[in-house]
Amino acid sequence: MHLSIQSKLPNVGTTIFTVISSLAAEHKAINLGQGFPDFLMDERLTSLVTAAMNNGYNQYVHMNGLPLLRERLAEKMHDLYGTDVDPEMQITITPGGTYAIYTAFTTILQKGDEVIVFEPAYDSYIPNIEVNGAVAIRLPLSFPDYRINWADVKNAINEKTKAIIINSPHNPTGSLLQEEDISALQEIVKDTGIFIISDEVYEHLIFDGKQHLSILKYPDLYERSFVCFSFGKAYHCTGWKLGYCVAPPALMKEFRKVHQFNCFTCNSPVQFALAEFITNKEAYLGLGNFLQSRRDHFSSAMRSTKFKPLPSYGSYFQLYSYADISDENEFDFAVRLTKEYGVATIPVSAFYKSPVENKVVRFCFAKKTATLEAAAEKLQKI
Ligand code: PMP
Ligand code: GLN
Repeated sequence: MHLSIQSKLPNVGTTIFTVISSLAAEHKAINLGQGFPDFLMDERLTSLVTAAMNNGYNQYVHMNGLPLLRERLAEKMHDLYGTDVDPEMQITITPGGTYAIYTAFTTILQKGDEVIVFEPAYDSYIPNIEVNGAVAIRLPLSFPDYRINWADVKNAINEKTKAIIINSPHNPTGSLLQEEDISALQEIVKDTGIFIISDEVYEHLIFDGKQHLSILKYPDLYERSFVCFSFGKAYHCTGWKLGYCVAPPALMKEFRKVHQFNCFTCNSPVQFALAEFITNKEAYLGLGNFLQSRRDHFSSAMRSTKFKPLPSYGSYFQLYSYADISDENEFDFAVRLTKEYGVATIPVSAFYKSPVENKVVRFCFAKKTATLEAAAEKLQKI
């Protein structure tokens, strides 16, 4: 018998994060590639998980997520964004932000639908679209400020356009959507049936006194949106893979149909612990300043290298140009940096379909200061 799979994702290889993290491990390089903190998370939160497990909270919680956690998330969103979200109808806890985005796409997409995606694009978006038989329409962000050209968006829209996916603070560039972007988006989608998927996993990681412009703040946008978040980024626990999606009732009703037969419900003790810990506002309100100090620490250590920083206003990441160092393409350069100099980074070309070569690599600065200093010291040798 000959079994063969007709691939749903014929052009997809292994994600760049796994490729680079494996290479970093093999060469014992300092891993500033994949985005994850190397510092410990808050012990109060890990203790709450232990207590939840010891107290017997180890069975399935409601398929939409622990009710108390959803209630507290609704309060948080009201405080931060002034939006009234009904926790019963509009919030679903998911195994991570990536899953929330995938589920939102799967909820809305039919074969042949088009989705507007801005490149560089976080690497899961386009496979998520294509696995659903839909087509990604890729539009470039401008270089080097990585802003959206809204005239391009207007031109790309047609009767097949089902959705636009946005991401702010932006991975991999650290750029932010600004008020004029929101106004342009409002203008473009008004009177259309276009959905928005808003990836806001870095909502709290925002610097230099800037504000996060959540889609939740704009009722005319929220009414057509799936807004996706991640606890991993808010509490330095990316490996916990817990997040949530917020959407208006009619959209969420369909989202839950897909969700209930995929994972059904998420890890319970972690939800009990988060429901307690989330009342501690300093834990997330202080994050921007904390990560900003890491960004600044790293960039001052990098001054003694030939790398040149591009601005980063949010996320875990900052792009650096190596144009003064090498003519190599970004992938080859990132591989050589890992193997020969012992520092792993992510080539930004990996976030484009046809690699765009701006000679920039992405560094994750969500690390201990000692890690950042050790990496900069290695990079001085180039
Ligand atoms: N979107 C972006 C832009 C991200 O960087 C991440 C981080 N992995 C995610 C979504 C997903 O987060 P999670 O680990 O919660 O799935
Ligand atoms: N979001 C993280 C990054 O951008 C990685 C997550 C993953 O490996 N999928 O580096």
